[in-house]
Amino acid sequence: SRPRHRIRKASGCPRLGEQRPAGRKSPGGTDLGRVIAITNQKGGVGKTTTAVNLAASLGDRGRRVLLVDTDPQGNSTSGLGVNKKGLEHSTYHMLVEGERADAAKISTQFRNVDLLPAGIDLAAAEIELVDLPERVFRLRAGLLPVKEQYDYILIDCPPSLGLITLNALAVSDSLLIPIQCEYYALEGLSQLMATVRQVKRLYNPRIDVEGVLLTMFDGRLNLTNQVVDEVKKFFPKKVFATVIPRNVRLSEAPGFGMPVLYYDRASRGAACYLELADELMKNRR
Ligand code: ATP
Ligand code: MG
Repeated sequence: SRPRHRIRKASGCPRLGEQRPAGRKSPGGTDLGRVIAITNQKGGVGKTTTAVNLAASLGDRGRRVLLVDTDPQGNSTSGLGVNKKGLEHSTYHMLVEGERADAAKISTQFRNVDLLPAGIDLAAAEIELVDLPERVFRLRAGLLPVKEQYDYILIDCPPSLGLITLNALAVSDSLLIPIQCEYYALEGLSQLMATVRQVKRLYNPRIDVEGVLLTMFDGRLNLTNQVVDEVKKFFPKKVFATVIPRNVRLSEAPGFGMPVLYYDRASRGAACYLELADELMKNRR
């Protein structure tokens, strides 16, 4: 019979029994302007939930965060309570019109969290970018001027490996890959890693995997434990010890336009994203 993963409960948050070694150290050991792409071209795996709640949690811990919404669905934007219709400054304007992040970013009502919003017009960017100069480096050009103003810049990527995602990878120090504990969890990950290798070779030699985050975890299911096994095999030493459980508060909070921390601070979802923030910060020091 297969060994079950030992789960240690800490503040109600499931953790993998085995500690993940520290991630990549940034030069000088500082977090300043660390850009992390939250990406997986598979849809509905928890990218946006992670982007919004990790941003709020890092902000709560006193870190200055910019959340960049690069998904035309604009879920990170509405998840932070910002109306995604008719935006005059947005990720679209940055990518296509060359606007800089200083002009496009807005502050939110959540502690230490700024947002670069996105709306449906961003869908056109995927096509418009094709004919633009430096088409892979446009997000990088827009973000560069504000990099030093933040400890972390988190990029919520769309569920595709198109030009918008390439722009995100080209500016990122690392990527955080959420994986849903479900059948076919590993589907598409070979393709994602091939893309990352290509980006590393052609555009951005410093990019690396920050960590793999298991989401919508349910320790009672055998399936979940099988997925954990497979993911650990696929990404040795890269899986975050913090695991995000299935938690109804996490799915309710976006409907109120707020991170779970502000919707129900006592929830397990809130506790786990705070733990993820702590693990991420610890890995950098
Ligand atoms: P897309 O690829 O469409 O951008 P995504 O990867 O950003 O999707 P989310 O939008 O974060 O995924 O999550 C998909 C759905 O699952 C949402 O309805 C979200 O509220 C819900 N969800 C995400 N994580 C959890 C969780 N830990 N517990 C319960 N529900 C969750
Ligand atoms: Mg999303």
